[in-house]
Amino acid sequence: MQKMKTGKKLILGLSCAVALTMASTAFAEHGETPTVAIKNAEATIKAAVTGNDLFTEHNDSHHFDAFQTGQTPTLTVITCSDSRVHTQLFGMDPDNNIFVIRNIGNQVKTAEGSVDYGVRHLPTKILMILGHSSCGAVKAAMGDYSGESKGIKAELDTLKPVIAAEDKSGDINGRWSKNVERNVDYQVKAAMELYKEKIQAKELTVVGAVYDFNDLYGKGRGKLVITNINGETTPNKIMDHPVLKELNRGEIVTHVGSLAPAL
Ligand SMILES: [Zn+2]
Repeated sequence: MQKMKTGKKLILGLSCAVALTMASTAFAEHGETPTVAIKNAEATIKAAVTGNDLFTEHNDSHHFDAFQTGQTPTLTVITCSDSRVHTQLFGMDPDNNIFVIRNIGNQVKTAEGSVDYGVRHLPTKILMILGHSSCGAVKAAMGDYSGESKGIKAELDTLKPVIAAEDKSGDINGRWSKNVERNVDYQVKAAMELYKEKIQAKELTVVGAVYDFNDLYGKGRGKLVITNINGETTPNKIMDHPVLKELNRGEIVTHVGSLAPAL
């Protein structure tokens, strides 16, 4: 538990500048403006350095013994850079267990080399695409982002197929939430095309999920909700997937959901 607290302090310190920048552009957030105080640069770097010192104080040098010469993660995760998606993913000890790729909109194509490394050079068994509620990248892709930088535009352009195929009826927040899930479906599809042989050989399972800190799925705030396994998006069928067999039925029911029909 101590390790998680330490990690949160570090992440809070690093995330504020990003959140401030995002809020002033085409990127938007659900609801009211956050009330957390924004750190200045000096406080931010201090939090990063001392936060990591806390980590080493709570993990003696033997913590590093097992992975001195190489890494053996079995989970590769592509998630959004959004600072609200916690980096101590799922409470697992991430060191040597999770290979993490982050970018705006949790995209495969804009980080293909990194994803390839996780899947082809590491013992990855699960490739997880993790979207999240209130994703600013998805919201920005739904609107006019012509005033953004060249780099941002290039990454939002790759989300166009998701937005082009959406059902335009309904309120903006409802459409946004569904598009988050549909983007996950879209990224799962891209990953399945890249790693078709590994999936067919049952060496790899691609899992799509949403980190739902707004409780849009009714499972509770902050739940990890699985919305797609190897392209299957029907909750009842996902629940029966063999990869979930070590979870009991109650755990499965509270971690599988759907807001939107498949793309
Ligand atoms: Zn996001």
